[in-house]
Amino acid sequence: MAGKRGIMPIRARRGLLLGASALLTCLVLLGLFSVFRKGAPSLTVRPLPQGEDRDQCRLQAVMHAGEGTVAVTETLRMRNRSCGPLDHTVLRFYLNAFRDEAHSPAGILYDECYPLGFSPGRVTLMGIRWQGESAAGRWTDGDETALRVETKDWEAGEWGTLTVSFLLEIPECRWRCQRSGDLWVLGNALALPAVYDGERNAYRLDPYTPIGDPFVSDCMDWQLSLSLEEGWVPYGSCAFEKGPDGTWTGTLEAARDMALLFFRGERALEKSFGQVLVRLVNIRGDREKVADRAGEILKAYTALYGPPPRACLTVAAFPFPFDGMEYPGLVLLSDRLFESGQEDWELPLAHECAHLWFYDLVGSDQVNEPWQDEALCQWAVLEYVRARYGEDSRASLRYYLADAPLEEQVEGSVTPGSPIDRFSDCAQYDTVVYGRGTAYLCALDTYTDGKLNAVLKAYADRFAWQRASRADFERVLMETAGQDLSSFGDIYLDTLIGR
Ligand SMILES: [Zn+2]
Repeated sequence: MAGKRGIMPIRARRGLLLGASALLTCLVLLGLFSVFRKGAPSLTVRPLPQGEDRDQCRLQAVMHAGEGTVAVTETLRMRNRSCGPLDHTVLRFYLNAFRDEAHSPAGILYDECYPLGFSPGRVTLMGIRWQGESAAGRWTDGDETALRVETKDWEAGEWGTLTVSFLLEIPECRWRCQRSGDLWVLGNALALPAVYDGERNAYRLDPYTPIGDPFVSDCMDWQLSLSLEEGWVPYGSCAFEKGPDGTWTGTLEAARDMALLFFRGERALEKSFGQVLVRLVNIRGDREKVADRAGEILKAYTALYGPPPRACLTVAAFPFPFDGMEYPGLVLLSDRLFESGQEDWELPLAHECAHLWFYDLVGSDQVNEPWQDEALCQWAVLEYVRARYGEDSRASLRYYLADAPLEEQVEGSVTPGSPIDRFSDCAQYDTVVYGRGTAYLCALDTYTDGKLNAVLKAYADRFAWQRASRADFERVLMETAGQDLSSFGDIYLDTLIGR
């Protein structure tokens, strides 16, 4: 997030990316920018490998606008990917973390997130079936975000079918899942299979922490059918088509999550860049400019890291206390970024678009290694700025994003390699994970004579549609750079450098 990815609070952003935006504006006015590189590649979409045995989700959802609810049925075809038989599986229902006022993750910024007072987000289970028969389920964690379902004799490598029906109560809360007026956002609201940790022989049950993006999941194929009330249009991680009976259908292959938007308002602006369709939803101001800039950002990253994973990218504005949040095929930006009439949205857009490569395409452990997608995205922003505005602008931005955070005072003993639950506030998280994590990448690039982009391209190609560990990253780094650079990780990611 922009702060999702490492959720970055708006005030921290003001100190970093917004400050950096103003700096860029000055450089542009002084005529110091270079014209965006001519001959940038026309956009293609990265082909999916054939013959993969991904899990599948068929999802039906019905919106009840008056009640503020969505009724959902998911049928999941899942494979036992552990080494032995399993007597249960686990589904994550993150929305339940918002069910009571005392424990809501949004309580960390209560006044901003609940301007109308507390509004609960909740999941009510309606039915569970395993292999076609009624099955028992129970919450296994205090937050009631992890549902354990008995599976009996589910052998390793075997497929099973789990059907779960539930009602989502969408909160009036400016967080990832919310409704306000003509826009509903269902981020981390649909049920997802928990990831099985083969080393611990257990499902991961990471709690929904207020800081960072506490989500780890694997790619599935999605098939959706949505019934919305008159006047509402669905957007989200994929494109939808309306059938003669009024039902909206959409599909998305190899996606580690599915976020939905229900919107009632101005039609989306659509613009094609080669094979990639960019759609803008609920964005005020010069929408053409935002769409064109998104196209330029995608081209810059394609030149460096290879084609993006999606044929359709939706960019939408929503009320949010941080700069933005990424989902597969979807970039969400805070609507505050569009208030000034300046281009405050540009660098957050570049950051979230980079997550198409470093999160959507290559997943990582966002709970225990949050730097591994956030710092990579910050690095990509620097490279976009180099391509569009030139070396001087990049150097100035690097100071804001990577060098200054080494000088900032940070309370507590956290490093970029710390898990997200070790951080006590958003500003600390921002400085350490985004800032000092990016300083690590800058140091690697300097020491390898500019090979970091080649490393990141090899990393994207090697781990496309998978999850990569820190060791995986370091292995690609070593192979591509041709030298052992593990001491850089020890120093920058695990040592209390800076002040
Ligand atoms: Zn991010």
